[in-house]
Amino acid sequence: MDDCIFCKIVDGDIPSRTVYEDDDVLAFLDANPLAPGHTLVIPKAHHERLNDLPADIGSNVFAALHDLTPAVEDAVDAPASTVAFNNGEAAGQEVPHVHGHIVPRFESDGGRPIHALVSDRPDLSDEELDDIAATIAGE
Ligand code: AMP
Ligand code: ZN
Repeated sequence: MDDCIFCKIVDGDIPSRTVYEDDDVLAFLDANPLAPGHTLVIPKAHHERLNDLPADIGSNVFAALHDLTPAVEDAVDAPASTVAFNNGEAAGQEVPHVHGHIVPRFESDGGRPIHALVSDRPDLSDEELDDIAATIAGE
């Protein structure tokens, strides 16, 4: 994609602090880190969302996340990390090229867990939960 900032990083047209690379995956430090070591893991091919990723590329991205997460934590002596994708614009995705964030976390970083993502939780009945589960399961 011509105007994609992460494709430009893959192509070497924009510099990055690369920490891992293979045929399908690139990982580099986030330019505006939420914590020291904040790392982005991307497929080299342009796909906008996780939903668009071919399964084999998704597996390779997850394998890189799996291998890099302890390396990132160790590099900055972090006891934990938040590993997440903003998957789609409504979820806060700003760069429309799939990327997983590895954000090192510290006891006193003032950050919040995934459960702080929304302020208004839905009040769902058992029946609604059953219906949603069945729909996701394709029943
Ligand atoms: P998201 O909101 O999930 O789309 O996150 C996009 C991330 O990309 C942000 O954390 C930005 O700081 C990061 N970012 C944007 N441009 C660059 C760049 N040229 N190099 C490294 N990270 C970048
Ligand atoms: Zn791209």
